Formats: sequence, C-alpha cells, structure tokens
Amino acid sequence: MNEPLPLCDARTDLKPIEVLFLQQLPEPSHELVESPQCELQREHSGVHIALAQASGPDSWWLVWAPGNAQLTARGWNMDRRLHEMDDCPATQGESEDECLLPARHAGAHSFEMESSGPRVPSAFARKKMLRALRESLDDDERAELEEMESLLASPEGDPLPLITQNEALVVTTLLGQVALDDWLMEDLVLRVVERMDTRMQALGR
Ligand SMILES: [Zn+2]
Ligand SMILES: [Zn+2]
Repeated sequence: MNEPLPLCDARTDLKPIEVLFLQQLPEPSHELVESPQCELQREHSGVHIALAQASGPDSWWLVWAPGNAQLTARGWNMDRRLHEMDDCPATQGESEDECLLPARHAGAHSFEMESSGPRVPSAFARKKMLRALRESLDDDERAELEEMESLLASPEGDPLPLITQNEALVVTTLLGQVALDDWLMEDLVLRVVERMDTRMQALGR
C-alpha cells in the first residue's frame, strides 16, 4: 500500500451569500463547513475546489482561484463560484472505493490521497441514516428501543429522591456524550437530558 498523497492546504471562508445559497438546497448531506480546505492533491494545477454541499444526487463545489486570479465563467470574471459538477467515475481496484472528487479534476483521485476529513451529517442525512439503522435492528433490539420510547411518551411518573444535583449534572453530561456516538439512542437521550435540565433549572441552579 502506497503512502497517501498529501492534500493541497489552501482554505477559504464561505461568504454570506454562498452560505445563503447552500442553506436553501434541498436534502443537504452535511453541515456546512465554514472554512473548507481544497480537496485536490498538493501542488495541483489550476483552481482550488472543495465540496460545499451535496444536495440529493447533486454535488455543489466551491471553486476558487489561487491568489487573486480571476476565473472566467460565461464571460463574467469572478474570483470564485459555486458550481454543480458530476462525480469523478474512478474507483479503486479491489476495494471499489469511489473517488469523491468531481469529474476531470486535477491531480490524484481522492482514494490515493489523505482524507480531507469527515463532514458532520446534516439533520436530513441523520434522519435518513436513522431510518436505515432502525430497519437493520433485530426484533429484540427494536422491542427494547420501542419500550424505552413508550416509557418516555407516557406520563412522567413520581419523582424519586435518588440523585443529587451534582450527580444529575454528571449523568446529563455523560448521556450527552452517548448521544453523540449512538444515533439510534440520540433522540431518547436528548429527551431525557432535556427533562432533567428543565427540572434542574426549576430548582434554581
Ligand atoms: Zn488546491
Ligand atoms: Zn477522481
């Protein structure tokens, strides 16, 4: 296995108008990255590019010129633009990893290079993955999850003098961390944490 090739280290901040545009795209796949890094191979030729958002099957790339050079698009000069581009068709031999760059990109394919890092899935993407996760559960696992959901949905029950304020703080913090790692439990955990938080605040913390 060859060493992964290094990535270009150019970065740029999304402009407010670009953020507005990207935020209205339907079915976004990830949270916007405020300061995306170029995803091409170090010392590539031509413009820098970074995936700004994937919307359903469409990939929107931010394209920007090195330095202050101007790009020409349909007779307009501009130093950057958002552009919907087709995917690079290349796949890696046996593993069949797909290249994550757009078609006709400069430099090496993404699977030959360092990772540009994972993006945080959008709420939309998380819901979709969550549905798939639920479907992959076996009967016992699903029954357990549904039981917990129905417990939370029913009246709250009597408060029990079981826990101190500091313990409750630790428990809610730990649960919050679990929620980050386990999407299936996330919704349940967040609901429990929210209730405990509300009660702690009512106690005048
Ligand atoms: Zn670059
Ligand atoms: Zn490629």
